[in-house]
This record gives sequence, C-alpha cells and structure tokens, in this order.
Amino acid sequence: MPAFALALDTQTIAIAVALLIAAALLVALLARAGVGRRAPRPPSELPLPKPAERPQPPPPVAPAALPPERLAREQRAGEQLQSAQDALAAAEARLSRDAAARAEVDRRRREVSDAQRKLEYERRKIAEAEEKARREAETAARAKAEAEARAAEEARLAAERAAQEEARRKLAEAEAGRTLAEGLAKTRGGFMARINAFVGAAKELDDATLAELEEILFSADVGVRTATRLLDSVRERLKRRELSDVSRVKAALREEVERILSLGVAPGESGHGGLPDLPPGTPPPQVVMVVGVNGTGKTTTIGKLAARLEQAGKSVILGAGDTFRAAAGEQLDVWADRAGVPIVRGKDGSDPGAVLFDAVTRAKAEGIQVVLCDTAGRLHTKANLMEELKRLKRTLEKAHPGSPHEILLVVDATTGQNAIAQARQFHEALGVTGFVLAKLDGTAKGGVIIGICDELKIPVRYVGVGEKVADLKPFDPHEFVEALFS
Ligand code: GDP
Repeated sequence: MPAFALALDTQTIAIAVALLIAAALLVALLARAGVGRRAPRPPSELPLPKPAERPQPPPPVAPAALPPERLAREQRAGEQLQSAQDALAAAEARLSRDAAARAEVDRRRREVSDAQRKLEYERRKIAEAEEKARREAETAARAKAEAEARAAEEARLAAERAAQEEARRKLAEAEAGRTLAEGLAKTRGGFMARINAFVGAAKELDDATLAELEEILFSADVGVRTATRLLDSVRERLKRRELSDVSRVKAALREEVERILSLGVAPGESGHGGLPDLPPGTPPPQVVMVVGVNGTGKTTTIGKLAARLEQAGKSVILGAGDTFRAAAGEQLDVWADRAGVPIVRGKDGSDPGAVLFDAVTRAKAEGIQVVLCDTAGRLHTKANLMEELKRLKRTLEKAHPGSPHEILLVVDATTGQNAIAQARQFHEALGVTGFVLAKLDGTAKGGVIIGICDELKIPVRYVGVGEKVADLKPFDPHEFVEALFS
C-alpha cells in the first residue's frame, strides 16, 4: 500500500510538472505574440480589435480609414485564436484525467500557435496599412497646406501689387505738376523777354520803334497774320492817343491777346476750359474724337484727360483707334491702367473703325459717360490720313448718331508755325471743335496759341505743361495772359 501511495504521488507530481511546463510554454508563446502590439497580455485576454482604439494620427492629418475586409480578417483571426485556446484548455483538462489526451493537447497547441501567427500576421498587415494611410494622409495634408500657402502668398502679392498701383495712381493724381507760369517760362524768356526789354528801353513811339515791335511780334511764332493784327491794334490806339508812351504798349498787347484767346467769350464766362458738357437733351455717351499727327502728345493727352475726368467723377472708356502703331495701343493701355478706366483695343493692323464702334457700343451698354477715341496720326499705307479720319468720323456717327460731339486736335507747341499749318489742315477736313496745345513747357514758341485762336477761331480746351496728369490744364484765357505777361 505505501508502495502504491508512493507510485501515485510520483504520477501526480509528473502530471503537475507537465502541466506547469505546458503553462510556462503557453505564457512564453503569448508573451512573444504580445511583442509589437499594444497589449502585452496573455493570449486568452487579447482584446478583439476595435477600430476606435487605433491610434489617431495627429491633427491636421485626417484619421486613416482602413479597408473593412482587413479589419474583418483580423477579427476572424482573433476569434480563431480564441477558439483554439479554448480547445487547448479543454484538451489539457482532459489530459489531467486521461493520458491519452496528450496527442490532442499537442495538436491543439499547434493550432494555438498557428492561430497566433495568423493573428500576428493580420495585425502586422493592419499596422502597415495604417502606416501607409497615415503617410498618404500626411502627404496630402502637406500638399494641401503648401497649396494654401502658395495661394495665400499669391493673394498677398496681388494685394501688394494693387496697393502699389493704387499708390502710384494716387501719387500721379496728387503730384502737383507745373503751374501754368512755370509751363510758360520758356515762352516768357523768349518773345515776352524781348517785349519787356523793348518796353523797358522807354523810347519814343515813332516809326522806328514800331518797326522794332513788328520784328519782335513776327519772331514770336504767332504767325504773320496775327502779328500784323497785333501791331495794327497798337497803331490804332496810338492814333486814338490811348498810348502815350511805350510802357502802355505792353498793357495794350496784353488786352489784345486776351481778346483773341477769348474768342468773343466775356471774361469770367466759361467756354474754353475743359471739355464742354453735352448740350441738354443729348443722349450720352459723349464721344470725343482725338486727332493729331504722331508725336504731338495725343496719347498722353488722352491718358491725362481720362484721369482728370475720372477724378471729376465721370465714367470714361478709351477706344484705341490707332491700330497702325503697336506702341500706341500699348501706351494707351498703360494710361487706361493708370487712370483706372476700361479700354477697347483691336489687333494691330485691324480696322480702327471697328474698334471705335465697339468702344461706343460698350459705353452705351454700360452707361459710360465719355468715350475718348484715339486715332492714327500717320498711315503706313499710301491712304490719305484725312480721308481715313473722315471715315472714322462717319463710323462714330453711325455708332451713335450726333457724335462725335467733340473733335479735339492735339498740336505740339514746340513745332511753332507748323502747329498752325497742321491745325488749318485738320480743321478743313474734319471741323475741329477744340484743341489742346501740348508741350508748352518745352518751348519758347508758346505764342503759337494766339495764332491758332486768331486764324481758326477754335477754342483751346487744354494746354499741356508736362507729362503728369496735373500738367494738363483746362485753358483759361485770362489766367493764360496773366501768366504770360507777368
Ligand atoms: P502721340 O504720338 O501724339 O500719341 O504722342 P505721345 O502722347 O506719345 O507723346 C509724345 C511725347 O511727348 C511723349 O514722350 C510724351 O511724354 C511727351 N509729351 C506729351 N505731352 C507733353 C507735355 O505737355 N509736356 C512735355 N514736356 N512732354 C509731353
């Protein structure tokens, strides 16, 4: 009996030792399975994967979405492990009662081990998929952030450019420009200086003195006819004994010049300065056809005028009717930009009539008040410029009956007598309604303005005394004579 008891004890101890070894093996296996995953728990306690527990990628990267079939495979592998573990536990329980269960225990252990590897594999795949999705999300987020930064930078640069342009425009508008007196400095230094010297000499007003005055007036670029007329008026006054001495001659000339420049408009009345308003009842837009030979300052005048009118609260559109010269359209574009007004341009060499027709049509459609039409000053073909301008005039009449309301001739003061000849030619062909004397600041030949007014009886709308917007001065005969004779 004691021998049986001893044998029993030995068998029990062997079973217990085997159980202990099996348990240790199981723990070791599970510990290995736990490496690389978050929960280092024994296999039986492995939680079934829950998507919510997956690590969230840091903001602003959006959480990576995993393919549902992969999650399902991981879940299935977890369940298979669980059932393999359950089967192993049952087999081991049987082994404690029945040594024949050993083979089954071994099989179940292999099954647990296989299920373990499968679960590890599925989890590794999930980790890889997560990592891949995270990287893709990061790349997408980075690309999005870069695109946003680029767009923000572009918007900032555009705003900066717009602000600079606006500042430039404001500056151009605010730039004081030259005064009329400054613009007339050269003319004053020319023929007016000679008149002053003549008057200062205080000689007798005899034939010799009058001959000297005649010579001065002939040299003053007012034209022979006007010089003669001025001299005649001095002689007349002499006869009427209105001029007692030479010093009165200057005042007499001044009065006569103002009378010529006023074209019969009483001092203080308007009639010269600036663009006249449309007569009441005339349907807008006001169409202004600007003519003149190349280089006189036509484009610059249109640009300055557009800026002036805009500043005065009028809406303006430019028609780039000089399609013969590529630079003319580009230059007008710059002015349109600077003045902040729209422009209608055609292709180089295209029909200028079509461009101006479009500009007038657009002004009508958009309720724009003034259309400033640039025109060619010289043609590349043999065609006659005046005939071309007449054709354009007819086109404008078609586009807007009653227009052009103003045919503004730009003449270059520096060309002196030529300016008068040009004015005559344009007037005969087109019926000029007003003129602009540009570049008065650059010449001593400012007297030409007196000749044009006297010969053609055309009102002066503006004088140009420089290249800034403020250098285009609405013409006022009294102010002009003051500045010239001061
Ligand atoms: P266009 O060919 O008739 O269109 O002439 P532009 O408008 O291109 O002018 C010819 C040149 O004269 C340009 O360099 C202008 O800047 C300049 N200009 C125009 N008006 C004046 C002005 O009143 N004073 C001065 N000093 N220059 C002017």
